[in-house]
Amino acid sequence: MNTLVSTGSVLVADRLLVPGQPSIRCQAADAVRGHLRRRGVTPVTGPLQVLDGTDRNFAAVLPGTGGQVGLGLAAAEHDPTGQAIAATTLAAWLAVARPRTVLLASPRSFCAGVARAIEVVERLLEQRDGPIYVRKQIVHNTHVVAKLRAAGAVFVDELDAVVDGATVVFSAHGVSPAVRAEATRRGMEVIDATCPLVTKVHVEARRFAGRGDTVVLIGHAGHEEVDGTLGEAPERTVLVETVDDVANLVVDDPERVSYLTQTTLAVDETTEVISALRARFPALRGPGSDDICYASTNRQDALTAVAGDADLVLVVGSVNSSNSLRLVELAQRAGTPAHLIDDAGDIRPEWLAGVDVIGVTAGASAPSHLVEAVVTTLGGLGPVTVVERETSRETLHFSLPATVRRS
Ligand code: SF4
Repeated sequence: MNTLVSTGSVLVADRLLVPGQPSIRCQAADAVRGHLRRRGVTPVTGPLQVLDGTDRNFAAVLPGTGGQVGLGLAAAEHDPTGQAIAATTLAAWLAVARPRTVLLASPRSFCAGVARAIEVVERLLEQRDGPIYVRKQIVHNTHVVAKLRAAGAVFVDELDAVVDGATVVFSAHGVSPAVRAEATRRGMEVIDATCPLVTKVHVEARRFAGRGDTVVLIGHAGHEEVDGTLGEAPERTVLVETVDDVANLVVDDPERVSYLTQTTLAVDETTEVISALRARFPALRGPGSDDICYASTNRQDALTAVAGDADLVLVVGSVNSSNSLRLVELAQRAGTPAHLIDDAGDIRPEWLAGVDVIGVTAGASAPSHLVEAVVTTLGGLGPVTVVERETSRETLHFSLPATVRRS
């Protein structure tokens, strides 16, 4: 009997209980739950007794990696709507169950700047008694933010939500001088988790503007990093996103133009924009070395080594993660269907139809355990062979701000 499921809800099995046998894990349960939520159904989770002679249970046992895996749903006895949903949901996932290969791009997940920013907040929560405010998302990932919020961090959009004199953390994406000035004026203790590679771009912006150049910042309007960099010399900086924007650019002196880039752009697209700038302004000057950070470049290179051999690419990351979005676009430009997923619950059965090889990666702000959960979930739909393709190895580590380190 399924005592967990009530009318209007659908049970998603986390394991199948078959009389006389060890229980069978339902590894794809996260994806099945996500499927139901997208259909407006609130799932509950629990074990499902199968072969009990009722037609309220919808379950299947499949070959998995090194054993059997299960898929199972159930609805209440007097809930024909729930039963119909359970039946069609099981059918949708069974239709795409098959053996697969997962190509794991490496490097993937956290970069040094993200790891540092998260550790800053974690340590402050351990070290301090008072509230720890964080301006904006510390890194662009819903899971990271939810975990830190649950641990006590107070996320705010702007400093007007922070009380005077409180401790506030600036996120990895950096802030404009105006934000720093407000924090100082109101006596806040600022702990700066800005990635050092973003700070490098701010320093360049000040230097280029200081020598009288028009600074062309290549980046995406509205992104926090771009807002912060623009704020260094707003009267001398213009933002461009595309080659077309370059054609429409108006500058004071074509002999005095410099460019900078957001750190998380696609290398190939940015190269085109820089070429267009150089064609219009032959005296164009730029940063000593590329502003696109090592982590963005490495993740793009790693995905390039995977995307061409995959039928589908899944990028783990949140919708506001610039470097994750660039990975999706990169795979699509390589001709491979690609989707951004916050976690395994976002995987859709229709994406998997006819797909044998799946490339998997994660943006620099996505925790690696989410990637592991995606592989586990895919393993709930048949045997999975995992092949890791490493194109580079990252050893960079950024030290913590002194205040946090000392405490
Ligand atoms: S993606 Fe690049 S710039 Fe952003 S935090 Fe990571 S290393 Fe720093």
